[in-house]
Amino acid sequence: MTIPTEHTDPARRHVESVVIVNTGDGKGKSTAAFGIVVRGVARGWRVGVVQFIKSGNWRVGEEQVCRDRLGVEWWALGEGFSWDSDDLSRDEAVARAAWDHARQLIGDGAHRLVVLDEITYPMNWGWIDSGEVVAALAERPAGVNVVCTGRDAPSELVAVADTVTEMRKVKHAYDTGVMAKKGIDY
Ligand code: ATP
Ligand code: MG
Repeated sequence: MTIPTEHTDPARRHVESVVIVNTGDGKGKSTAAFGIVVRGVARGWRVGVVQFIKSGNWRVGEEQVCRDRLGVEWWALGEGFSWDSDDLSRDEAVARAAWDHARQLIGDGAHRLVVLDEITYPMNWGWIDSGEVVAALAERPAGVNVVCTGRDAPSELVAVADTVTEMRKVKHAYDTGVMAKKGIDY
């Protein structure tokens, strides 16, 4: 099957890694990121996930299966990140701690895939420095693939990415009052 592109076909080449951004207001950004996690695991990759939004209990589904059955290393806000600041709000300080960890994870080069789930929010709120994120992505070790998710991806993030997909909401069950569903939404 030939995938049509908007451009005239460039010469094809292999790259060691890519940066992917899943953004937009429709459902599927994180789901698609976890789909790539499964692909990476299938290839024997070491995979890390950092979640930048507090998940409460509703994320336990994918977190548990990724950790316990797929051997994915997983860090979620609200557990495991300590902070030491009197000037910042707790949420902001924890988001920064999560970013410090994610930056290290990317820079170390030990993981072939790093997912930064919902990272656009702390970037847009000014809690973590978009310039730092972009620099870490641009300077990443050659073999480290990164997937970023979240609405309203900042333009600098879009610029540094290889593949950017905007999930556009055509309909969402939530808008008609349907509650989030186990197995579908979490
Ligand atoms: P998912 O995790 O299902 O792939 P997502 O990552 O695209 O969703 P988020 O904004 O992270 O979207 O959504 C978090 C939660 O809100 C999920 O349970 C998701 O199913 C739900 N959701 C996603 N898009 C919408 C929407 N447009 N309206 C209402 N709820 C949504
Ligand atoms: Mg999401």
